[in-house]
Amino acid sequence: MRYDNINTGYYFSLLFSFVFLALGVYFLIKYHDSTIIKVGGLSISYGSPNMEYLFYGISFTVLSLFMLISTWKFYSNLKSDLMEYFELCPFCKGLTTAKIVKDGIFKRKIVIWCRDCGAKWDANYSSITGHVKSITLKVPCEDGRGNELLNKKLNPDELICKIRMKES
Ligand SMILES: [Zn+2]
Repeated sequence: MRYDNINTGYYFSLLFSFVFLALGVYFLIKYHDSTIIKVGGLSISYGSPNMEYLFYGISFTVLSLFMLISTWKFYSNLKSDLMEYFELCPFCKGLTTAKIVKDGIFKRKIVIWCRDCGAKWDANYSSITGHVKSITLKVPCEDGRGNELLNKKLNPDELICKIRMKES
């Protein structure tokens, strides 16, 4: 399985999370420094700390950790599901490619195709957990395998099971 733009999305989301983490750390340092005055080589604590910095520091840090964990979870679920069902083409064992594409205004889907036999699938996935929910065969294998499954929305286990049953 080759990922077309899935890893790009993954790295972009990670980068985005790290920017938030950097902001959180920046505000926490500002909060810490807001109580310290430097006199020559001496650092002296004074007055009350700036609570606004503390608030932003904690908020950004918590948010970034949440983003990091959910990004990691989402992409590892998505990739392990794709590997489970499409590591090789279920029809011809050829090389598959997966790409996330837009499917309406807010929705996205994954298009998977086989370089060798031309089979093509659409997969829907959960935008929260990243798990693949359903798969629809859009183009059957060039030798006609999968014709009876064409345009049927099936859950992934069911689809793979039906293809294997046909072969045995
Ligand atoms: Zn194939």
